[in-house]
Amino acid sequence: QLSTNQDFIDLENKVAAHNYSPLPVVVEHAEGIWVTDVEGRRYLDALSGYSALNFGHRHPALVQAAKDQLDRSTLTSRAFHNDQLGPFCAALSELVGKDMILPMNTGAEAVETALKIARKWGYLVKGVEADRAEIIVMDGNFHGRTTTIISFSDDPEARDHYGPYTQGFVSVPYGDLAAVEAAIHDNTVAVLVEPIQGEQGVKIPKEGFLPGLRELCTDRNVLMVADEIQAGLGRVGTTLACQYEGVEADVYTLGKALGGGIVPVSAVAADADVMGVITPGTHGSTFGGNPLAAAVGKAVCDLLASGEHQENARALEGQFRQALEALVGQGVEEVRVRGLWAGVDIDPGLLSGKEACKALAVKGVLAKDTHGSTIRLAPPLTITAEELKIVTDALAEVVAEA
Ligand code: PLP
Repeated sequence: QLSTNQDFIDLENKVAAHNYSPLPVVVEHAEGIWVTDVEGRRYLDALSGYSALNFGHRHPALVQAAKDQLDRSTLTSRAFHNDQLGPFCAALSELVGKDMILPMNTGAEAVETALKIARKWGYLVKGVEADRAEIIVMDGNFHGRTTTIISFSDDPEARDHYGPYTQGFVSVPYGDLAAVEAAIHDNTVAVLVEPIQGEQGVKIPKEGFLPGLRELCTDRNVLMVADEIQAGLGRVGTTLACQYEGVEADVYTLGKALGGGIVPVSAVAADADVMGVITPGTHGSTFGGNPLAAAVGKAVCDLLASGEHQENARALEGQFRQALEALVGQGVEEVRVRGLWAGVDIDPGLLSGKEACKALAVKGVLAKDTHGSTIRLAPPLTITAEELKIVTDALAEVVAEA
């Protein structure tokens, strides 16, 4: 009979692969910004599934869309059409301002798809010599876990012992426009960039980097591919994180929140001159664009089209920044905030990120550490000012008591 958190953790440790090291909280029920564990303890979820729960847990409109679709059809494969795919792609196309959508499931698949599109565009449109296409990526990147994607990661944990690695990538320092420029040559087909590096600890590039990159890519006939999987869909106060600086990329990868925290839904968005390189039989996925995913994805687009969640992220950014900046010098070394997203560097002499997250959990707030002493805060975009204060007050207590 499983009843305590520890019972479930022991079982998991025995039979589930150890590819994560979670906090000792076993969630049984979740609603809005709150989750409850199997022992009845309640926590404010200040991680939101790494931005996959931007609208909170079980948002009523999203749950309703899923339930309605469960009663109609769930999977057709792309061997047949379904009545949800077109409306979903139309809504997403309108939302992000791109002609066409290629639906996939996970973020890594969307990135893989974008890399394939960029290479193919390079050969068929730009005229790059066969098998010589090069893609520029950024140091400290995180784009997922496939063999190709970890081939251009510089994180040994993600990369070691998974070789041989995929060729054709060159990495430059994040935010260094001169380095990107120096790396571009005739075979360069794309620059793949996170508008903000989430896994790196919410690392925000210098103002002007993204607009500069946009200009450079246009001048040199290179695709700007923005990975908006964690940064996009309202998190920073704009629909896409690139829009915060008025930038339009050529290709977007989207995921996480696109599935409303209910089903895995990812997508690549691009205009027809780029997406046109994809022809029948050249790429696909059994589940990509399935009617259940499309119905939920469409409902997510409808939520974002209202602008209310972006608006809330913008409205609370100042309060969030002010409360976190007040901790600098009080056990916190640096904070980076955009919208409802923050990276907080805890003084490593005081606490590791993991210890800080454990202490936060004891106070009823869930967050996640990354890279040693950094913790990431990304509460649902549905949070109120009073609830956000619970998060920042808890962190203030944790560093004060350390
Ligand atoms: N790209 C970015 C920027 C991400 O943050 C992530 C996940 O954290 C991914 C891609 C991979 O997404 P998934 O875990 O759904 O494959």
